[in-house]
Amino acid sequence: MKLYSTKNPSTRVSFKEAVFNSMPQDKGLYMPVEIPRLEDKFLNNLDQFTLPEIAFHVAKSLIGEDIPDDDLKSIIHDAINFLAPIVKLEENVFVLELWHGPSLAFKDFGARFMSRVMSYFLEKGEKQLDVLVATSGDTGGAVALGFLGVPNTRVTILYPKCKVSDIQELQLTTNGQNIRAVEIDGTFDDCQALVKQAFTDKELKERFRLTSANSINIARLIPQTFYYFNAYAQMLKLGIDKVVFSVPSGNFGNIGAGLLAWKMGLPVDHFIAATNVNDTVPEFLKTGIYQPKPSVSTLSNAMDVGDPSNWVRIADLFKGDIAILKQLVTGYRYDDEQTLHAIKFIYDDYNYVACPHTAIAWQALRDWQQDNAKKDIAGVFLSTAHPCKFPDVFPESIAGKVEIPEQVAQLHKKRKHSISLGKDFDGFKEYLLKNG
Ligand SMILES: *Cc1c(COP(=O)(O)O)cnc(C)c1O
Repeated sequence: MKLYSTKNPSTRVSFKEAVFNSMPQDKGLYMPVEIPRLEDKFLNNLDQFTLPEIAFHVAKSLIGEDIPDDDLKSIIHDAINFLAPIVKLEENVFVLELWHGPSLAFKDFGARFMSRVMSYFLEKGEKQLDVLVATSGDTGGAVALGFLGVPNTRVTILYPKCKVSDIQELQLTTNGQNIRAVEIDGTFDDCQALVKQAFTDKELKERFRLTSANSINIARLIPQTFYYFNAYAQMLKLGIDKVVFSVPSGNFGNIGAGLLAWKMGLPVDHFIAATNVNDTVPEFLKTGIYQPKPSVSTLSNAMDVGDPSNWVRIADLFKGDIAILKQLVTGYRYDDEQTLHAIKFIYDDYNYVACPHTAIAWQALRDWQQDNAKKDIAGVFLSTAHPCKFPDVFPESIAGKVEIPEQVAQLHKKRKHSISLGKDFDGFKEYLLKNG
């Protein structure tokens, strides 16, 4: 597999280089030089394959010879060791549950696959890989559990004090082994600024082999295509071959993977980009003007992104064909009141508890089906996290109905370990150097 930078289309790097660099020097994003179209024989018979089989076929088509078949198979079996079931809620309304992995969010797909690919590419005797990651909640848990016990790696997670939920904090701070958590007295943006500055600091770069685990890494994007193919396979099993996906979006990695799957031949009818009031992309789809804004805090905080980092990839996938992009993707945006209303509706009508991000995707699907008189097209909305991760969002009557999975019950028995730091870079740097 060869990749180029969106800022410099003539560059060529290997998959390994792209994974370790995460972002090119020129601050573009890596994209595959060739996006293979999968054979009709595979696409038409998706329902004959299991999730790991689909994942292998899709990954192999993209990655090619960079990872030999047996190694790629074992990476996939180890990383994607949980299911992504589709549940029918009513005629033509289905939910794709992407939170059956260890951190209870869809980010497990990307983080677990990426950690194993990185570990695979680390050669014997190579310097330990130091992964720095800033999180507003879900990324940190998925990355921590993805790298836990992976040889020759160490993860440092920065999270904003008092701004993640209790369960999220436990997921970040109770791992031990090669995972350490740093609680920053500041916001998520402060955490991200510290990580960014660390990557440009000469002394730190000499001392450590630093890499980032955020959602722009190409090794996080690839595994997210797997569940689109697998969801379509499940729909085929139900006798349905015309599908629209509604994707709750923040940094646009998730829907970006869906669009990549579409480019590879997955016959998706339409995509819906559902956001909270951080609506830079829905605005663009409406007006044609891409105007990033500072992010605004909402109940669906994993989507509080004013300048989605993966948008560049989507623009690149459709370069020159923005008209096609606009035909394929519709944007919708909702405020917190509408989000709560959707959560209540889903609970009352389907006896189903959806996390706030998921509820936004459902509302967007419903509105799209109504606005376009397309109630006869099967809609699948993506459920990106288990509701127990956002306990404060729900009214009491619904909160009591949220099931607590076994791994969360176990978390409550563990003790939090984290280091508290301010938001100044010098303190963070000193901590890294002293604890190297
Ligand atoms: C990260 C996240 C999102 C947003 O996904 P993007 O790929 O950044 O668009 C949505 N929902 C939940 C629960 C998340 O953790």
